Amino acid sequence: MPYGTLYLCATPIGNLQDITLRVLDTLKTADLIACEDTRKTLQLLNHFSISKPVTSYYEHNKTVKGDVIIQQLKEGKQVALVSDAGMPGISDPGYDLIQQCLAEGIPFTVLPGAVAAVTGLVLSGLPTDRFTFEGFVPRHKKERLQFFQKLLQEERTMIFYESPHRLQDTLETMTEVFPERNMAAARELTKKFEEIVRGTPSEVLAHFSEHGIRGEFVLLLHGAEPALQETRDLAWAINRTTQLETEGFSSKEAMKQAAKEAGLSKRDIYNAMVHTDSPE
Ligand code: SAM
Repeated sequence: MPYGTLYLCATPIGNLQDITLRVLDTLKTADLIACEDTRKTLQLLNHFSISKPVTSYYEHNKTVKGDVIIQQLKEGKQVALVSDAGMPGISDPGYDLIQQCLAEGIPFTVLPGAVAAVTGLVLSGLPTDRFTFEGFVPRHKKERLQFFQKLLQEERTMIFYESPHRLQDTLETMTEVFPERNMAAARELTKKFEEIVRGTPSEVLAHFSEHGIRGEFVLLLHGAEPALQETRDLAWAINRTTQLETEGFSSKEAMKQAAKEAGLSKRDIYNAMVHTDSPE
């Protein structure tokens, strides 16, 4: 018997109308639906009048449950995997099951739909041409500080997930590391109280200190301004020396100045110029 297929199905991140027709069809026809929290998924299934066997698959049972699901797939069963919200595999269970499918040669496919990260990115108004997803921000102050410091030179727009309980601490650390940077906090995406707050980290923090912190958040941070990429190599330094000489600098002064501007040693330029100038 051929193996069944694992269908990774995106589900709404708030607004139930964001489910796709293809996901509904797949949930209706699957032999088994694996999900994070069976109660939450049953609410979704009931809303769409779908009655199917469900089984839990989450962080703390994924090793044992993964094997059970793989066995079902090997027996030819069609399995749908959903998470509590959004795309399975993005800060949610899914990745490990995908690895098991790859290892066992079991086919899997993805049914696209809502993803909080991308929805928040587009709503933020920050550059979307290049971006990086950084997942959840570390909980502890020291790791959080190091985590953001490592991102200081990142030029792409950065996307983070954050829980309401830790939003204040995170915005405080962001204020410390990126005081002048533009950012956005996307709250309760696709829901009744959807909100986007834009500004520097301290401005965003001030907004939530005044209005209270409720709901789920995606944080978006503008990338660093690109560093001056001009390459000042030896060839550049030799040209610069010649240019300074024509401007009236002595050879020694010109070399010294060019070396300083290029971040090279005067000796490197001297040796290279002697070499260049040597008669054929
Ligand atoms: N797999 C999901 C996805 O595709 O976006 C993400 C799951 S992750 C466990 C949950 C986090 O996603 C939340 O803590 C929050 O940062 C973000 N999130 C999920 N739904 C959201 C919403 N409606 N508005 C804002 N953020 C949301």
